[in-house]
Amino acid sequence: MAIEVGILGATGQVGQQFIALLANHPWFKVTWLGASERSAGKAYRDATAWRLPALLPDEVADLNVNAAAPGGAPQLVFSGLDSSVAGEIEGAFAQAGHLVVSNSRNYRMERDVPLLIPEVNASHLALLSCQKTRGWQGRIVTNPNCVVVVYAMALAPLRQFGLKASIITTLQAISGAGYPGVASWDILANVVPFIGGGEEQKIETETNKILGELKDGAVESHPVTISAAVTRVPVHNGHTGSISVALEQQPDAEAIVGAWNSFRGRPQELDLPSAPAQPLVYLTEPNRPQPALDVNRDGGMTVTIGRLRPCPVLDYKFVALGHNTIRGAAGAAILNAELMHREGLL
Ligand code: NAP
Repeated sequence: MAIEVGILGATGQVGQQFIALLANHPWFKVTWLGASERSAGKAYRDATAWRLPALLPDEVADLNVNAAAPGGAPQLVFSGLDSSVAGEIEGAFAQAGHLVVSNSRNYRMERDVPLLIPEVNASHLALLSCQKTRGWQGRIVTNPNCVVVVYAMALAPLRQFGLKASIITTLQAISGAGYPGVASWDILANVVPFIGGGEEQKIETETNKILGELKDGAVESHPVTISAAVTRVPVHNGHTGSISVALEQQPDAEAIVGAWNSFRGRPQELDLPSAPAQPLVYLTEPNRPQPALDVNRDGGMTVTIGRLRPCPVLDYKFVALGHNTIRGAAGAAILNAELMHREGLL
């Protein structure tokens, strides 16, 4: 029998992606939608301007949008809420007994909240039991910032070579800013070297938590030192990172590419429905990856990497790309929920 799910922030950019990805999902069925008072009380088709190439499923289009308050929603709730309200609303849902699988930044760095990329740190789910002390009947699980998913996945297989330091400069898609997002006047034929909401700080802290080890019921952050510089570019979907790394060991390029291409995790072991067969794919063409060509690989769940070469300042440099609203948001949260289901945590 299908597991009923709700979506908080259903009318937003990430909310729409949830609906598109959950149409025909083998386990989950969308039965409840929540958004702001502006949308509550309307049929979903009237509450949102559908902006995805996938068709809006009729059974979701006909659902009424609810106010984002617990009561009436299924136990499992995905959240794509604006971060200005996510803290309070997600907390209220967890308090009321819901399992909230969140995209927002509000709880990511809390000591008792898993910040999950199932291929990288599935063991961090053990933190869930620590949330009992909050007095919540339910739980919150988070997925990382949309750049951090791509970055942490690319760095995870490099830990074995003694990952010491890394510099990343991002080229981030417009869809990462929600809708209507960045004004066309600002982004057309332009590059904006600033993204608000503490984007660089998120990259410099969330990555360490994800790459860290679970010890005595807490995450010990990975010691890699990170410097991030972010830019917004006129690309629809796909965050690209130009990345340099310093490594203690001196692996050759073949060993690094081998580590990326052979990288697998719990989702592949468990054959989860949204898991890509190969989460990291190294492209050998000299001018890849590119958002226009590579962002939708394996339904947008694969991270593509290319251009590995020596770095005269650190040791190696390369380019990594991932779909920000799929692998970096809705797809990431769905994979988290699939993992929890198979681990008996729903
Ligand atoms: P968005 O398009 O602006 O959507 C925001 C959603 O939050 C809408 O459904 C909106 O409902 C709802 N909302 C706003 N104020 C509310 C309130 N007072 N009460 C209840 N609901 C309210 O934003 P987005 O790009 O989808 O991002 C959603 C979240 O995911 C953010 O926290 C963002 O940081 C995170 N995220 C985004 C991406 C990305 O690539 N876009 C990637 C990773 C994480 P109304 O339509 O009714 O206003």
